[in-house]
Amino acid sequence: MIYLDYQATTPMAPEVEQAMLPWLGEKFANPHAPYRAGREAAAAISVARDRVSALMGQGGKLAFTGSATEAINWAIKGIVAKSERKHVVTIATEHAAVLDTVDWHGRHHDVTILPVDSSGLVDLEAVRAAVTEDTALVAAMLVNNEIGVIQPIAEIAAIAHEKGALMLCDAVQGYGRMPIPDGPDLIAASAHKIHGPKGVGCLWMREGCEPEPLIHGGGQEEGLRSGTLSPALCVGFGMAAKIASERMEEDHAHVAALWEAATAQLGEWTVNGSTDRRYRGNLNIRRQGLDSARLISELRDIAISLGSACASGSGRPSHVLRALGLSDMQAKSSIRIGFGRYTTEEEITDTLARINEAAANQ
Ligand code: PLP
Repeated sequence: MIYLDYQATTPMAPEVEQAMLPWLGEKFANPHAPYRAGREAAAAISVARDRVSALMGQGGKLAFTGSATEAINWAIKGIVAKSERKHVVTIATEHAAVLDTVDWHGRHHDVTILPVDSSGLVDLEAVRAAVTEDTALVAAMLVNNEIGVIQPIAEIAAIAHEKGALMLCDAVQGYGRMPIPDGPDLIAASAHKIHGPKGVGCLWMREGCEPEPLIHGGGQEEGLRSGTLSPALCVGFGMAAKIASERMEEDHAHVAALWEAATAQLGEWTVNGSTDRRYRGNLNIRRQGLDSARLISELRDIAISLGSACASGSGRPSHVLRALGLSDMQAKSSIRIGFGRYTTEEEITDTLARINEAAANQ
């Protein structure tokens, strides 16, 4: 299989797997237990927390969660629960973890969902006009999972702060791939997008911006998020963050070279979303008249996708591509090719050649 779906998940780094193994075997103690084996597990989690936190590039506090989806739910619900303000602002191209949570909140309170332009970017003046004295939280993603477009996070955070609101950044697709801009008060990330294990994410919080707990119980994570932590998952996340930090420039240069190789072969394809303000490991392209679902089913040994892994298979056109102003037809003639650290140039050129051939034969 040629794996080109790096936005859905990334292959686990071999160093991560090695680091996790002891914690899945003989080192099984509960990290919250008082005896030596428990304290050893707690110490390993503490090292992991420092590594994951360091890659955020800011001080603050970090709690592990079961996923970025949980971190996002917690941030939105927990900040609104704590605040007298109830209004939430977000953007139409956010991940379902944000949009569905905001939608749930919107059953009882005001929400504003801002549009994007045809390149996928939000207009900062529209953000400024939307944030009011009642706004508790502005939620914006760093890198879009479907089209790779990078939103102006620092500027959005500054606007939120001018009106006394907090800012949540869903950094899932940017964390470990690029530096996270200063400004957000809360940041959600996920291990499996940076060559770590699935089933662990985190919420970074600026001091004093902790949301109300969503999960109650044993009082772990300083009472903010109860539940026994998995040392294996946390250690894996920590190792993935350490490697991402050490290799950020190298990974970035590799991805840029793959992008050049891929875009040189585009021919009749058009890139969806901005090509300037973009994480280049995401190539979302469309071709007039293409049946992209058929194309993907014809190339079963190549893992590419129609858009977000969550929406794929629903048959619904992507809400992100629709938000760019594309028609249902154009959205359904789009595919997403995602690559990164372990992708070779040959895999990219072979894939583009096969995709071009299959598309031309439709
Ligand atoms: N946000 C974005 C932008 C994502 O791409 C994803 C995963 O696809 C998530 C949130 C959810 O992350 P997790 O899989 O850790 O729940």
